[in-house]
Amino acid sequence: MTTDSPAPTSVKPSAIGLEKDDWIAWLSSQGEPAFRAQQILDWLFRKRVDSFDAMTNLGAGLRQALAENFRLNPLESRTQEGSIDTTSKLLFRLHDGRYIETVVIPASPALYGEKSDRRTLCVSSQVGCAYDCKFCASGLAGFTRNLDAAEIVGQILQAEKLGGEKINNLVFMGMGEPLANLTNLTKAIRIINAEWGVGIGARHLTISTSGLAPQIEKLAQEPLQFRLAISLHGASDEVREQIMPVNKKYPIDRLFKALEIWQTTRKQKITFEYILIQGINDSREQAELLAKRARKVRAKVNLIPYNTVEGLPWKRPEVKVQEAFLDHLLSKGVQATLRREKGHDIAAACGQLRLKQETDEGIIEAPVAAARS
Ligand code: SAH
Repeated sequence: MTTDSPAPTSVKPSAIGLEKDDWIAWLSSQGEPAFRAQQILDWLFRKRVDSFDAMTNLGAGLRQALAENFRLNPLESRTQEGSIDTTSKLLFRLHDGRYIETVVIPASPALYGEKSDRRTLCVSSQVGCAYDCKFCASGLAGFTRNLDAAEIVGQILQAEKLGGEKINNLVFMGMGEPLANLTNLTKAIRIINAEWGVGIGARHLTISTSGLAPQIEKLAQEPLQFRLAISLHGASDEVREQIMPVNKKYPIDRLFKALEIWQTTRKQKITFEYILIQGINDSREQAELLAKRARKVRAKVNLIPYNTVEGLPWKRPEVKVQEAFLDHLLSKGVQATLRREKGHDIAAACGQLRLKQETDEGIIEAPVAAARS
């Protein structure tokens, strides 16, 4: 893992990272009544103003105090790349010069029908990633830092502003391991879920994890609402360990203990993400084991043909192998789908988001960390 210097702390916090109670406390410190919290939140999340000065139902003194203490937008939009399947990738610069990417995925008419207005945002939770999954581009240059709640929430507001359309489905499947950034993640989710905040409902929010068992158990006890997806990618320790070093720390049995706790507390279906990688995890034995494991925790399985990553040796299996794997799961009574990927041509598909950095020559991909090269 690359240990980078922490983000400078002198920068003002962003207003969109505060919860209603935080506003009430701050307003009280300013000698202002609590009802102003809702007014501020309306300006931030309903009307989406660009300056504190535009908050016209607040007094001039309060507007000035807000401008002195807070920033509005934590993300500076840099580039927007469209893909032939209309998936687009947004690049944002953070206040400390770091970069993150967010992917907008419109509904596929083939999957959801012509009339679907489903727009999914694939959100990043960290700059870089420390988990070093062998097939993924996001961890190639190591870990830099956690995103704060405002930087997570800001991705939604910016995507809606740039795209002119509401996002109604959110997946934490961008760069980073969301459960390794639990404090900021849970704060962001409260803001995203809340009626006074972004207002995206629990059924439309999915958190994906490489399998941090203790954090899953902790989250199971939280009042937060969201769906859980597990990046499984291997049905035995032997196979999983080969491609996901996290499995050494939390082997499959340990992970499943956490999933059983999740199941009993939440009574909600878990999704297993399973990338099909040729010759690694696409055998009949793995399909059989996966079916057993999925049935045990009543998980549904989302099969994802591997998206190629430059510099990595892995390949996706042939379509007939993908389909045989799917059929095997279905024949065992497991609910399973085979995903058609989006955004492959602009490196915006799962696992293709790479760490970026600014140099004299412009924004480039960060060099691959020493441990990987
Ligand atoms: N760290 C979290 C969140 C990232 S989600 C997690 O692991 O779940 C990104 C998803 O894309 C994960 O399911 C990840 O395993 C998957 N992925 C990574 N590289 C991929 C690739 N090259 N092709 C397809 N999926 C990939």
